[in-house]
Amino acid sequence: MTNIVELVDVVKVYRMGDNEVEALAGVTFEVEKGEFWSIMGPSGSGKSTLLNLLGCLDRPTSGEYRLGGKDVAHMNDHDLSAVRGTMLGFVFQSFNLIQQLNVLENIEVPLFYQGVSPKAAREKALQLARKVGLGERTDHRPFQLSGGQQQRVAIARALVNDPVLVLADEPTGNLDSRTGEEIMAMLHELHDQGTTIVMVTHEDDVAQHAQKTLVMRDGRILEIRDNETSAEEVPLS
Ligand code: ADP
Ligand code: MG
Repeated sequence: MTNIVELVDVVKVYRMGDNEVEALAGVTFEVEKGEFWSIMGPSGSGKSTLLNLLGCLDRPTSGEYRLGGKDVAHMNDHDLSAVRGTMLGFVFQSFNLIQQLNVLENIEVPLFYQGVSPKAAREKALQLARKVGLGERTDHRPFQLSGGQQQRVAIARALVNDPVLVLADEPTGNLDSRTGEEIMAMLHELHDQGTTIVMVTHEDDVAQHAQKTLVMRDGRILEIRDNETSAEEVPLS
């Protein structure tokens, strides 16, 4: 059993002048390799703060965070940025594609920071474009694609560096429900292939696609739901 994420008593305090806001008030949980988690909770409960920490965009005020066994809670900015580039993949609500680049070029972006040769990067990007069903549209720019297609480019980009963890922030938030279902089906497929995923959502039906749902309240974990077990527990009528 390998833990990809190990959080121990993570606290995050934001200081604004004389004011202190405890956005995370001691969060402890572990994500095992290959698991699919969702994070839910009302606005202000600490979801974004937690995702920023998981994504090594910020450090905890106190507590431990190990990502793939690495102590990332105490790393400097330079090392954190290297961890983001080599160990993490990000999928955002607003896709965050570069408008001037075509599908293949967008998928390649994370590889530029790693000294991967242009030829190898192109091969990898093409392989992933096909995997997400965009093998015929590799030279399209984002504005020529539907929202669902843009999110598939973003998913391919998130996978291009073979990350140990994919983080998704409201990945279906900008999509109609049918397209959202397609994107969730794709995340399921990645999970079936062994990808470890943590996704923030405020929609219960989206959250239930994950194996486990971490419910946040006031910077704390209110509960951890096992979506697979609770489905089995439904009584037969
Ligand atoms: P959520 O994503 O669940 O809505 P957040 O993590 O964004 O919650 O916020 C948790 C708490 O921390 C809120 O009270 C919010 O106002 C506060 N907060 C978040 N980011 C900052 C920041 N950069 N500076 C000050 N307070 C912040
Ligand atoms: Mg938020």
